[in-house]
Amino acid sequence: MCGIIGVYNSPEAVRFAIKGLFAEQHRGQESCGIATSNGNDICYKKGHGLVKDFFTDSVVENLKGHIAIGHVRYPTKGGKTINNSSPHVLKTLSGLSYALVSNGDVVNYKEIRNMLEKKNVLFESENDGELLLKFIVYYIEKENYSIVNAIKKLFKDVKGAYSTLLITKNEMFLFRDVYAVRPLCYCKTEEGSFVIASESVALDIVNPVWKKEVGAGAIIQFSENKDVLHPIDISEFRSSKYEKHCIFEHIYFSRPDSVVFGEKVFDVRKKIGAFLAKDEPDVDLVVPVPDSAIFFALGYAKEINKPFELGLIRNHYVGRTFIKPEQTVRDESVNQKFNVLPGVFKDKKVLLIDDSVVRGTTLKKIVLLIKKAGAKEVHVRLGCPPIKFPCFYGIDTPYKNKLIANNKNLEEIKEALNVDSLGYLDINDLDKSVKKPNHYCKACFTGKYPIESDFL
Ligand code: SF4
Repeated sequence: MCGIIGVYNSPEAVRFAIKGLFAEQHRGQESCGIATSNGNDICYKKGHGLVKDFFTDSVVENLKGHIAIGHVRYPTKGGKTINNSSPHVLKTLSGLSYALVSNGDVVNYKEIRNMLEKKNVLFESENDGELLLKFIVYYIEKENYSIVNAIKKLFKDVKGAYSTLLITKNEMFLFRDVYAVRPLCYCKTEEGSFVIASESVALDIVNPVWKKEVGAGAIIQFSENKDVLHPIDISEFRSSKYEKHCIFEHIYFSRPDSVVFGEKVFDVRKKIGAFLAKDEPDVDLVVPVPDSAIFFALGYAKEINKPFELGLIRNHYVGRTFIKPEQTVRDESVNQKFNVLPGVFKDKKVLLIDDSVVRGTTLKKIVLLIKKAGAKEVHVRLGCPPIKFPCFYGIDTPYKNKLIANNKNLEEIKEALNVDSLGYLDINDLDKSVKKPNHYCKACFTGKYPIESDFL
């Protein structure tokens, strides 16, 4: 999971790109970067850390142009190095320049990289973004493809999830994989600029005239101040007649104020909360694990007519634990991240709601915190079914043995978390929480992967 932003035809492209990345900071915190073009040349800056820390005045000063693309990185492939960070930029011997940012994972990475290396294409990273860029540029430079035809070739050969932005000196292209796994939307502003983003919250900052979700398998060219859709026949490239959006975007990844895959994220979460309340223990208050479980808890508390209490306070200056890539860093973050409201839990029967449990590390510590604060009972409800399978489409859960629900049954998980009762969302209720359940990937719950992968 990463966040991307693109701005075309705006004198404020760099400022909008930074603001957009700031709105998408929750999608990745390891590194960030922006590439710009002023019509003559592409320049870029990328580095480790948060958007607010990296983009100092002296960094921003070097970024000029009316076109900008940006990226916040959550590493799935390749270590924490600058080479693995985005944007990836390429200046060819023929004098052309390209820059690319992408969100998702290529599942036949090795096959495509081997193919390109045999054609003497050199790589500097293990990152999918570099692979996508070098694939496209290879076909432009060596096989005389147009950019659009090179992207069409990419759709044919490169499997996986990729919501992507590519710029040249004068143009911007967006393309989205045929299953539309990761979100991507765009808008036009009153001034005639286009802004493209992973999440709609990043579009809200520019006062859009209209906003749209980008279609599955879309290639859109932004050129001479207009957007041109280059249609492809997606049925040629995918086995399912439906898109396979990541359902986890609604459960955890996306901001609640975003509209993702045509649905308001907070609405989906409230519906999930109400479904969870079917299984109602006798409790005094309903408490969310902030921030992503807040709307589940609101839905739940409303359904059972019990008090909703923000009993846990999250320190927002510590990163999201789920997206910290290394376990040691993750453990330290959990300890610093939450505290309890004094007196709220004393002698109470607490219904604690979290979005999901992946490894169990965070939740176990939170339960302990609440018990230490005097709770009589802690009952846990989770906003999704048990996560039993890894994700290969942009989320860092590669090994089954790290997933608590893959190794333990419900009773064992309840014991491991040391809670009085434990309940997961039923998968049928998850389906009822979204408008088009067939249009979603749910492989981490079902093991039914929509895109064939090298890793399966
Ligand atoms: S496997 Fe799970 S996390 Fe990965 S894309 Fe599918 S629903 Fe999303």
